[in-house]
Amino acid sequence: MEIPEHVNLKLLREEIVKCPMCGKNSLKVSIYSYDMPMIGPVIFVVGKCSECGYKFVDIKTFEAKGDQKIEFKVESEKDLNTMVLRSATATLEIPELQAEIAPGPASHGFLTTVEGVLQRFKDIIEYLCKDAADEKEKAECEKRLEMIKEMLEGKRKFTIVIRDPEGHSKIASERAKEEIRRPEEGKGG
Ligand SMILES: [Zn+2]
Repeated sequence: MEIPEHVNLKLLREEIVKCPMCGKNSLKVSIYSYDMPMIGPVIFVVGKCSECGYKFVDIKTFEAKGDQKIEFKVESEKDLNTMVLRSATATLEIPELQAEIAPGPASHGFLTTVEGVLQRFKDIIEYLCKDAADEKEKAECEKRLEMIKEMLEGKRKFTIVIRDPEGHSKIASERAKEEIRRPEEGKGG
């Protein structure tokens, strides 16, 4: 999480809730608001369990838009600096890599750049590659890492797709295509 230390986070509220890891009523949740440059008003949530040590961080847009899909085509090295806010409820996918970051107790919300997103995928895939079962799987891993390397150098175009059922995510670019699906419009698409 790249929140500069000098910024003024405004504490909105603090509460003690049930911890998703140990099940005890010992998870202290602090909720802050902050006006983030390029993104706008955001909510910053920090949770810490005094029993099991579980930590949780989320960041999300102040406004909840509803079932949201954002698509951003990364076409040049310059696009790597675009800010990406992915809330903890969102799935972030790079279809060209056939890889995604999905919601879950260990999946925190984050605000980073497109480059930062690629670094995350690089770390995950490198980690998974250590457990490659055979030569074929290992070769597949290396192929994906090579693709990420080209993406990080701005030599390979790719897409970032965020699906957030709560509508708390954002990609700070005029070229990011956003669709909001209202419940009555049903599923599909
Ligand atoms: Zn706990």
